[in-house]
Amino acid sequence: MDSTSISLQHVTSLESAISLFWGSGRRIVQKERVFGGDINQAFRLTLSDGTHLFMKTNDKQNKCFFTAEAVGLAAIAQCRAVGTPHVFCAGTEEDGGGFSFLLMEFIQGAGRIRHYWETFAHELAALHQAPAAEFTGGGKYGFIQDNYIGRREQQNTVHDSWVSFFRDCRLEPQFRQAVHYFSTSDLKMVDRLLSHLDEILVEPEQPSLLHGDLWSGNVITGKDGKAWMIDPAVYVGHAEADLAMTELFGGFPREFYDAYREAASWQPGYESRRDLYNLYQLLNHLNMFGGSYLTSVKRILSFYVEN
Ligand code: ADP
Repeated sequence: MDSTSISLQHVTSLESAISLFWGSGRRIVQKERVFGGDINQAFRLTLSDGTHLFMKTNDKQNKCFFTAEAVGLAAIAQCRAVGTPHVFCAGTEEDGGGFSFLLMEFIQGAGRIRHYWETFAHELAALHQAPAAEFTGGGKYGFIQDNYIGRREQQNTVHDSWVSFFRDCRLEPQFRQAVHYFSTSDLKMVDRLLSHLDEILVEPEQPSLLHGDLWSGNVITGKDGKAWMIDPAVYVGHAEADLAMTELFGGFPREFYDAYREAASWQPGYESRRDLYNLYQLLNHLNMFGGSYLTSVKRILSFYVEN
């Protein structure tokens, strides 16, 4: 993708953002906290003309979270397969001690449509089947830029092999960061796992643009009553990695998986690879939130090394 196809407006104050997009007569009349995220503060803003906006804020030096999120949302939107909020701009504000912000469309779901989960499964399959080459700038797996998974950096260096990408840019950096949690014998298992990854993972039939952090908290109901995706950590990879993530924290309803299977071909053996994809997410949680994730990480590590 060249830099013109995903462009993000940067502004130097909230006030200038409001007048740039909604006219100089508009101002913020109400600011209400929205809860539910782990990383940023979130707000519903109401403008003087009644327009609602969604704003995330963080420290000034973390503006990079928001530019990466905006590019990710724009990449998903570009595939025209599934709803995502429209991003207006990212910026920094000097007032109030200074902060960075991301301004986007406020998603206000009414009721859910009938066959909500089946529709979402079909749309996700369409996202996974959309041409993805433009998101890597030439190679097959990775993304045009690095981004974030939670508040940790996610490497997206482009690789021609999915298995090598998953080793070099996903498992290996997380294990390196978590090294102090492991004994010498654990670390031998880590080496063994990483050097035998090609015996467990398979190359996909086609590279897919992934949401990258697809748990239920990142799916909300849009104004059309359909499932919309928020807060992505996009990259081009194997669609199975998105499906695995949906199963990590409770799973989506059965009809979602049945409908996805109807809409897209699954390579045999997904179940035997699922926990390995989720090992990346669990290692990331271990590195972000600490030791309560260690037992799950070690269980998956020994399962793959011993079987
Ligand atoms: P964080 O980056 O801190 O993880 P999220 O992106 O998860 O924050 O957003 C926090 C909460 O705000 C979500 O759980 C969701 O309920 C709500 N939310 C996120 N994006 C929007 C939006 N565009 N419109 C309305 N509500 C939103």
